[in-house]
Amino acid sequence: MPELIEVDLYRKAAESALGRTIASVAIPNETYLVGDTDLSDFQSVLYGCQLRGVRRIGKLLLLDLGAVSVGMRFGMTGRLIVDGEPSIDQLLYTTNEVKEKHLRCVITFEEQGALSMIDPRRFGNVELGPEEGQLGPDAATITSEELTMFQSSSASIKALLLNQKRIAGLGNLLCDEIMWRSGVNPTRGGRTMETTDIELLASTIRGTISELSDRGGSHMGDLQSERRQGGSCPIDGSELERDTVAGRTTWWCPEHQL
Ligand SMILES: [Zn+2]
Repeated sequence: MPELIEVDLYRKAAESALGRTIASVAIPNETYLVGDTDLSDFQSVLYGCQLRGVRRIGKLLLLDLGAVSVGMRFGMTGRLIVDGEPSIDQLLYTTNEVKEKHLRCVITFEEQGALSMIDPRRFGNVELGPEEGQLGPDAATITSEELTMFQSSSASIKALLLNQKRIAGLGNLLCDEIMWRSGVNPTRGGRTMETTDIELLASTIRGTISELSDRGGSHMGDLQSERRQGGSCPIDGSELERDTVAGRTTWWCPEHQL
C-alpha cells in the first residue's frame, strides 16, 4: 500500500492543480529527495514552472512541468494531499491522521493551494526526472503478450508480479487477490505457466484492477477479510495458507491455487 489504484486516485486529485504555477517547494528532510539533484537546485528548477500534466506509470506519479518532470513514489504509507484535502480517506497499515511532522514534500502554488506528500514511515521519495524506462508495462492495461516473459523465468509468480521492472503497479494485496482469482499458486515458477495460464492471468490483472478501482481501493478485494489466522477461501471454504513468498506475507488457497 499504496498500490496502482491508490496512486491513480492521487493522479486524479492532482489534476485539480493543473495550470497553476509553482511558488515554492519544501522538503523538510532532504533525504526524501533522491537522484542527482540537491534540494536548492530542485527548488530553483521548479520555481515558476507551470503544472502542465499529471501522469502515472505503475505506482510512480509524475508531475509534468514542461521541460522537466517530478516523480513521486509513495512507498508503504504515502498519501497525496491536494489543497489540504487527502485524496483518499484511508490507507491500511498506517495512521490516517494528517500530521505536520509527516509532511515530506510540499509544493505551493502562486494562485492557491498546494500538493503535499504525507508519509509517516518515509519509504517514499521525490525525484527530478526519474528514469521512466526502468518500469515495466502498466498493470492496468497489461496484455498477455507482455506477460509471456514470465514463461522464461524460474522466479515465483508472486516475485514476478511484484517486480516493478516486469509489470508496474502491483503491491502485496493486489498480487494475492489476482493469484487467488486466477487459481495460481504464488510459489509456482514462471516457467510452469502455459500460454492459457498467462492469458487468464493478464485478463484477471486488468479485471481485478478495474473492479477494485470501482470499489475504492486495493484493500477491497474478495480475499481481504480472510487474510487472517483461520481465514478460509471464499470460493471453496478451504483454510487459507500463509507464508512469506518473495519477501512478503502471502495468503493463498491450497485447494484451488495450483
Ligand atoms: Zn479455494
